[in-house]
Amino acid sequence: MMDRKLLNSFCATCDLRPVLREPWCDLSWIYATDGRVMVRVAFDPALTLDVAVKYPPEVPLMNGRFDWDHDQVPADGWIEIPELPPVQMEDCVWCGGEGADLTCGLCGGYEDSCEACGGTGKLKKDPSMPACEECDGSGKHDAAQWDQVPIGESKFATGYLRKLKTLPQVMIEAKPLDPGDPHHLPPMRVKFEGGLGYLMPVKRD
Ligand SMILES: [Zn+2]
Ligand SMILES: [Zn+2]
Repeated sequence: MMDRKLLNSFCATCDLRPVLREPWCDLSWIYATDGRVMVRVAFDPALTLDVAVKYPPEVPLMNGRFDWDHDQVPADGWIEIPELPPVQMEDCVWCGGEGADLTCGLCGGYEDSCEACGGTGKLKKDPSMPACEECDGSGKHDAAQWDQVPIGESKFATGYLRKLKTLPQVMIEAKPLDPGDPHHLPPMRVKFEGGLGYLMPVKRD
């Protein structure tokens, strides 16, 4: 069953586009995306009590890239998510394991005489600091999250496949469309109980 916590886990955390930090909805659907993965469920007032009905300007642009034509995949064209590399927890690369960004905002570590950090570039950890969004304050993250998993002709990031696995009865396309053009990789279609989604492949080198 979709709830807001699950829906929000598909939104952006560290992202320069604040519009992606929470789900949005139109009159038919509720969407959540971080720009790489996207899920869509039917509009449900119970899920949107604290989300104003909105359709940010950049969304039609982004949404226009997707056809939501999951019914084109034949019944035997869906598979379960394959076994994934094991989780490898290590210090978060974003915050260095601190659970918060301690970088001195005044000098960024470039002033030996900085009064805020004493020239170290790092502030003292303080409970009032916002938690690191990458690791949610835990200081740890999964080093295997960017390991690539081949599905069809494309490759997908382990961390995103793990995330999709949290969806009820999730299935993925066995053979995502072959990109042909490596610069315009088509997303893989995803379906789950109550909704549809997409996952972008990892870019080819
Ligand atoms: Zn400083
Ligand atoms: Zn962190």
